[in-house]
Amino acid sequence: MSTVAYDDRDGFIWCNGELVPWRDAKLHVLSHGLHYASSVFEGERVYQGAIFKRDEHHQRLLDSARQMGFEVPYSVDEINRAAERVIEANGITEGYVRPIAWRGSEQMGVAAQRNRIHVAIAAWKWDTYFTPEARLKGIQMRTASWARPAPETAPVHAKASGLYMICTLSKHEAEADGFNDALMLDYRGRIAEATGANIFLVQNGELHTPEPDCFLDGITRRAVVQLARERGYSVHERALMPGELDRTDEVFITGTAVEVTPVNRIDGRHFTVGPVTRELVEAFDQLVQNPSTWDQHTTAPSSVQPAAAAGR
Ligand code: PMP
Repeated sequence: MSTVAYDDRDGFIWCNGELVPWRDAKLHVLSHGLHYASSVFEGERVYQGAIFKRDEHHQRLLDSARQMGFEVPYSVDEINRAAERVIEANGITEGYVRPIAWRGSEQMGVAAQRNRIHVAIAAWKWDTYFTPEARLKGIQMRTASWARPAPETAPVHAKASGLYMICTLSKHEAEADGFNDALMLDYRGRIAEATGANIFLVQNGELHTPEPDCFLDGITRRAVVQLARERGYSVHERALMPGELDRTDEVFITGTAVEVTPVNRIDGRHFTVGPVTRELVEAFDQLVQNPSTWDQHTTAPSSVQPAAAAGR
């Protein structure tokens, strides 16, 4: 990725209905979204010119806004078309798309019912970050000192900017200690997720992943659950306590940015990058690299039960 700052690049960004030159895509400092984190966003990957799980991401943007008490003033179809214009205007075949919606400036106190809802969509080139071989080395995680909040504490199912303040703090803490990312536990002490990705454990050849009852139910997570089941794996969605890591053989994380990335260490525990993780890394790569097969992969929110197919 380029090291040029994100506000100083060539190209076009879609803002409230029109494409504007990249450097002109500005907001006023007196914006409610900035002061009070009344902002929701998405992160999407473009493979071969197409957005993976496009409709799911744009529906989630609208749903996140609703959980924050506002309506995005565009339909999923309109956001789809706008994102496609941005991809085309910036000549992107492999990249990342970042839609964002926020409350504007009409009221500048806690209450902001009258504020205009602004929407912008940016996209940039981003080649597949790791080669499959590099990714298979795995990453190291450190347990965060921050916990994912309870559902009555924050709109935990929204992809809302405010929820990322503890992710940034946790990731900084991990990086300062020489780790790549943080493992966040929830308010009950259960394993929740990484700072921008969901987590899976492999125990005796079966997959276990926390129930997303206080964090984002990732679109990649759902796709990987489906891929695993198609391959005959049992997938259990349940409460996972950190002590279980002692009887866990493999760990990996899933997300739009990290795709499927193995974890080789959490605090003092080491894990092998084993056969189940390798198979799913490969299966996910094959899926995303073949846009013609995407329609067969629906990702309605999964109630993850043990696979009907024979277990391995
Ligand atoms: N959890 C958090 C906190 C995230 O930021 C992300 C990335 N959007 C995920 C999980 C994974 O979600 P997805 O697979 O939809 O990208």
